[in-house]
Amino acid sequence: MGLLDITERLHAAERAAGRAQGSVTLIAVSKVQPLDRVEAVLEAGHRIFGENYVQEAAGKWPDLRDRFGPVAVHMIGPLQTNKAKLAVDLFDAIHTLDRPSLAQKLASLAQARGACPQLFVQVNTGEEPQKAGVLPGDLEGFLKDCRALDLSPSGLMCIPPEGEDTGPHFAMLARMAADHGLTGLSMGMSGDFEAAVAHGATHIRVGSAIFGARSYPV
Ligand SMILES: *Cc1c(COP(=O)(O)O)cnc(C)c1O
Repeated sequence: MGLLDITERLHAAERAAGRAQGSVTLIAVSKVQPLDRVEAVLEAGHRIFGENYVQEAAGKWPDLRDRFGPVAVHMIGPLQTNKAKLAVDLFDAIHTLDRPSLAQKLASLAQARGACPQLFVQVNTGEEPQKAGVLPGDLEGFLKDCRALDLSPSGLMCIPPEGEDTGPHFAMLARMAADHGLTGLSMGMSGDFEAAVAHGATHIRVGSAIFGARSYPV
């Protein structure tokens, strides 16, 4: 457990996959963690974090950035359209572009500010009715719509179904990204990031294995 241990395991996974050290970005998922744990990881030198809730992130990161300097913060939770403006002001990347209305909103915000956070399209690889994400069969059309709006997603993101072997989902996401010329792959969490790295993840999202268990489930 802890940042050092996860960093070592990540380097071993990169080596095992024949990938260069540092080719995978470790996003430390700090949602609902007590501030002292987040500060400890910042003090250890880590500068890339992930958050699930716009409001929580907005209450935490402006101050932490004042104190610690530039920190990349990635939005990895569902994004409501009415929070999109706050989100583009706050986040360096959004991993949960999952529907046309959000694409339209992000496109108009990007136009107005002349810049856009890095974007990942969330794909519902398990085709679960309750889960966000573009269905695999709709991805091509959705990417076309994004490009027509001048948005250029750089990769794909998935959250495989609970309790299933994640390997086939990671493999599927990697194949879809390659098919569409996208280089980013946001996949893998505390329990399965090594498998994700083996399947080509460029961004892993690790929370509890770095910070410890969250005090309430989300
Ligand atoms: C919370 C969360 C994570 C981190 O989960 P852990 O199991 O604590 O590593 C990763 N990705 C998403 C989308 C999450 O919501």
